[in-house]
Amino acid sequence: MNYDTEKIRAYFPILQQKVYNKPLVYLDTAASAQKPVQVLLKLEQLHNDYYGNIHRGAHYMADKATLEYEEVRDKVKTFINASSRKEIIFTKGATESINLVASSFCEKYVSEDDEIIVSEMEHHSNIVPWQINAEKRKAKIVKLPFNDNGLLEIEKLPELITSKTRLIAVNHVSNVLGTINPISEIVKIAHKAGIAVMVDGAQASAHLKINVQELDVDFYAFSAHKVYGPNGVGVLYGKEKWLEEMPPYQGGGQMISEVSFNGTTFNELPYKFEAGTPNITNLAGFGAALDLVNEIGVENIGRHEHELLEYATQQLKNIEGLRIYGEAPNKSGVICFNINGIHSYDLGMLIDKMGIAIRTGHHCADPIMQHFGISACARISFGMYNTKEEIDLFMQALNKAILML
Ligand code: PLP
Repeated sequence: MNYDTEKIRAYFPILQQKVYNKPLVYLDTAASAQKPVQVLLKLEQLHNDYYGNIHRGAHYMADKATLEYEEVRDKVKTFINASSRKEIIFTKGATESINLVASSFCEKYVSEDDEIIVSEMEHHSNIVPWQINAEKRKAKIVKLPFNDNGLLEIEKLPELITSKTRLIAVNHVSNVLGTINPISEIVKIAHKAGIAVMVDGAQASAHLKINVQELDVDFYAFSAHKVYGPNGVGVLYGKEKWLEEMPPYQGGGQMISEVSFNGTTFNELPYKFEAGTPNITNLAGFGAALDLVNEIGVENIGRHEHELLEYATQQLKNIEGLRIYGEAPNKSGVICFNINGIHSYDLGMLIDKMGIAIRTGHHCADPIMQHFGISACARISFGMYNTKEEIDLFMQALNKAILML
């Protein structure tokens, strides 16, 4: 396929602008992807033409909005190849999806002295929910470490697993190291010992083809805003057998079957986990984003980003005193780095004034910073719309900033 970046860029009005009188170069897609016009139009269309609350209305607009909402569920099911639409729960985002599993799974299956293995390369959102819920049940968190190249030490997994281990929490792709983790391998080891695996797919879903049945994961979480959709919307995939057994996460409208003061019975899946009015409009927008990603092909996007990754990595390696964190052979389009004697905040600020958006800080992954003995680093990350010319502009800005600092 001929990857037409020019055509793709034309879908994103925000990329056409100038900031500080310089053409905008957006290299922060790992934080949040920009939104194509298809998504913006869908948000407008829903608000203008058929807005109504879903599942409970008895009128044309509510019916149409409900239909659209449920169609997006089917699109997500196909996007990650789930076996049933009952396994697709809509949430606020990856963070809420993980909190849902941490709360409901721990309530059902975790008790005193049990253990949950969490990888050292997790975003805070796949660490803290486990800590909070483990503490409530007097259970323990066990760390699965990574090495200095940014590879998980999978060979240590068998010795970390005990009869008390209940679940392994790991990301598919690290938002700092860019490592694409060998999920199938982890799942095989875990399942042999009867342990569930929760995968944080926030950094994978817009870059890799996700097949939850092939990966055989028990839970998979991601956010729409990183897949070119609106924010405030996310997905939790869970195997039906777990979701059937787990208690609801929140109570409210739609998640019930019958309510009386003598007690409540809960709705069937997936509604048992969708209390209250969901983010109807943004979910419709998410559907439009998935249509675009499917049209271009997520594998094609991933291949394009990989070319950018190689191109940028090569050039960064020529800079004296620059260290890249994360050099896994199987890596996604994310590069974190520091330069000797320069604080990443200063670098980010200067580069921003040259029209280039990068990210600096701890990237919500303090344990990774601690591993490398740093407090922060700079990150560039790529999306479907980035070009080699933009990387050239970034390199020029970076070299200029280094001279200034
Ligand atoms: N997991 C990873 C690896 C992430 O990079 C992020 C966000 O950057 C999250 C989870 C949390 O996603 P959200 O804030 O959309 O819930």
